Amino acid sequence: MWPTLTLLVFVGGIALHFWWRAKLGRERESWRAEVATQTNREQAASAEALARQDALFDSMIEGVLVLDEARRVEFANRAFAQMFGTTGILRGRALLEVVRAHEVAEIVKRAGAEGRVVDQELELPGGERWLQVNASALTGADRRLLGTILVFHDLTRIKKLERTREEFVANVSHELRTPLSLIKGYTETLLDGAKSDPEVTTRFLQTIERNSARLQLLIEDLLTISQLESGRVALNLRPLAFDAMVEKVFSDFTERAAKKQIALRHEPCGLMASADEVRLQQVFGNLVDNAIKYGRVGGSVIIGARIGGGEKLEAFIRDDGPGIPSESLARVFERFYRVDKARSRDAGGTGLGLSIVKHIVQSHGGEVWATSEVGVGTTFFFTLPVG
Ligand code: ADP
Repeated sequence: MWPTLTLLVFVGGIALHFWWRAKLGRERESWRAEVATQTNREQAASAEALARQDALFDSMIEGVLVLDEARRVEFANRAFAQMFGTTGILRGRALLEVVRAHEVAEIVKRAGAEGRVVDQELELPGGERWLQVNASALTGADRRLLGTILVFHDLTRIKKLERTREEFVANVSHELRTPLSLIKGYTETLLDGAKSDPEVTTRFLQTIERNSARLQLLIEDLLTISQLESGRVALNLRPLAFDAMVEKVFSDFTERAAKKQIALRHEPCGLMASADEVRLQQVFGNLVDNAIKYGRVGGSVIIGARIGGGEKLEAFIRDDGPGIPSESLARVFERFYRVDKARSRDAGGTGLGLSIVKHIVQSHGGEVWATSEVGVGTTFFFTLPVG
């Protein structure tokens, strides 16, 4: 009896042992599965957070560059890559390999020593690009340097605007100073006694009058430019008969053309334009004025139009004057640009006529350009919406 009982207890014990091990095994398996799911979930969440962070940095207009303590790239956003024209994977590359400007390495060094570098301006090699840089050192709890974060702000547009404004002010001052000093000089000479000679007086007064007229013209042109550039000019668009417009403009210039024996010719086209009459008169006025001013004695000025590309009216004004060298053709529309400064000033030019033309045509949604052959002549073209 006892051996049987002992055997039963022994077998029972073994069965219990295996049952217990199997239960433990199952629990361990389910725990492992749970841990794996949890890890996967955490990995997915951190990948999502990283993607969100990348999207955030890539949507910034500022360039962001994060360097490790050995000055290797840890992170760079899209704006940074565009600013420095870098391609491919930047992570792990040395700073000077990515940014070929030693000033940036200097800024990183200073940020490491001083903690921060604020609003440092930088002109990129190759010119015409300016950046503002802010840099901060990243330090650990033990104040050990872990890396540097740099933020680049593109100043190119502001710098170019600043330069244009400075040039404009310098040009205006120069243009005002010349006639003013002539007026002053001749007036002083008259007051000093020259007025006793009637012939001299007349000649001097004529010079004074010519320069006052030049000043007036310059101020009018400057006001027009400033109005057009401010975008405050409201165009009074209406359908205009192109041919009638040309006849009207030609009648204003008959006398001036006759003085140089220039023939004003009109090729009728029967087209209508949608334009502001006063502004369009200014366009024609400036172009015909130039064609006569720079045209040759005994030459001709021809105006016509046709329907060009994009179903727009394409007008032309052709002269047979000295022409414009090809390198100057695109520049004649810039404010104060003149091919021959002395000739323009002698002829009473302000250097603003074509820039006014360009503004007006563009405000109508059109384009203006010129073709020319030196010694043969120049043709100015502009487009307008059909009325
Ligand atoms: P300006 O008051 O000097 O005439 P514009 O802006 O009207 O100023 O013209 C700019 C320059 O373009 C002129 O100084 C002149 O050198 C050149 N130019 C303009 N029109 C003609 C033309 N029809 N033939 C030759 N040169 C021209």
